Amino acid sequence: MLTDQDRIFTNIYGMHDRSLKGAQARGHWDGTAGIMQKGRDWIIDEMKASGLRGRGGAGFPTGLKWSFMPKESDGRPAYLVVNADESEPGTCKDREIMRHDPHTLIEGCLIASFAMQAHACYIYLRGEYIREREALQAAIDEAYDAGLLGKNAANSDWDFDLYLHHGAGAYICGEETALLESLEGKKGMPRMKPPFPAGSGLYGCPTTVNNVESIAVVPTILRRGGEWFSSFGRQNNAGTKLFAISGHVNNPCVVEEAMSISFEELIDKHCGGIRGGWDNLKAVIPGGSSVPCVRGEDMKSAVMDFDYLRNELGSGLGTAAVIVMDQSTDIIKAIWRLSAFYKHESCGQCTPCREGTGWMMRVMDRLVRGEAEVEEIDMLFDVTKQVEGHTICALGDAAAWPIQGLIKNFRDEIEDRIKAQKSGRVSAVAAE
Ligand code: SF4
Repeated sequence: MLTDQDRIFTNIYGMHDRSLKGAQARGHWDGTAGIMQKGRDWIIDEMKASGLRGRGGAGFPTGLKWSFMPKESDGRPAYLVVNADESEPGTCKDREIMRHDPHTLIEGCLIASFAMQAHACYIYLRGEYIREREALQAAIDEAYDAGLLGKNAANSDWDFDLYLHHGAGAYICGEETALLESLEGKKGMPRMKPPFPAGSGLYGCPTTVNNVESIAVVPTILRRGGEWFSSFGRQNNAGTKLFAISGHVNNPCVVEEAMSISFEELIDKHCGGIRGGWDNLKAVIPGGSSVPCVRGEDMKSAVMDFDYLRNELGSGLGTAAVIVMDQSTDIIKAIWRLSAFYKHESCGQCTPCREGTGWMMRVMDRLVRGEAEVEEIDMLFDVTKQVEGHTICALGDAAAWPIQGLIKNFRDEIEDRIKAQKSGRVSAVAAE
């Protein structure tokens, strides 16, 4: 289990002073200029050595992503954009950073921007996060007043401005190019890639978009060394990670743990176990609503990292938002609810997603009631395959994967319900 000395987020529960004074007392903003004086290449190399993979869901190596930014400016400014749109159902980790430990993020923005030669950074905040905006803006104001932002930020000889932009509450604006469109004042619709943001991002300038947690861990990694960070977790899955566990556990929580912790340890140590005991566990969505669900018995021994969940269980770590469901859950209805969400949030610009999400939701709607033919299960699976990988952005995949997970893992339950409906045996049919 991760010890307190190795925790990056020391105020994730808001028990201590979140102001600049409190943050400094806990070791933040310590030697920031000294880190920056080591230079851009040192910072990027150290980030690569840390093994940090992006914490927004995709898990792309952060240091490598930074190295895609042009080394020499062609006259265009460079930007860092922080994705604080955290809207994936089940995901609630970045909000804890922003409202309780905001200086970790602000200091990270300065250092990361410097590494990418950006004099400006925008934090794009989820529309519903009102209290988080207040806390974060107050911390930004404090940092300006203390000379940590602005001209010669933190005495580093680097001029740096940090802007907080509040979104209007659309899930799709968490997709990095839709986020950039929205930030430019347009409708939040994903762009075709290429060009990738590092070549042409915000206002057509080189841009890197990173998740809140990915940026907030940067200062501590650089203070303690990439090697320290990479000492946690299995090979290729390094570091500490915020896990957000919700659903049918005794104590739902957000907790920082070492990557590759076992699911059993995570739940027993931090969440007081599964509601009703381990035998009562039915299913888990291990990485935010878009990854396929896994049967409870397969999860117990699972290793919570990118590679294990993908390669061994056909699911994913995603944002490490762990949704636990016990035997009382109507799993078909739970996945239907996600289908309804993705249908609602489709931006509608590509046909497989616009039409497919609605089609999938309507079939799911009938499966919940058992009013379908057994053959339709395979037909639904086929449609998810036609949507997956055939859309401009990953929302198509996000809508397809939960249904695929349901069919692969709980096909018997879907069939039982259809048969029960036909035979008039109502007990297996979902309650309205
Ligand atoms: Fe829009 Fe869906 Fe296409 Fe993404 S996949 S661009 S959300 S229509």
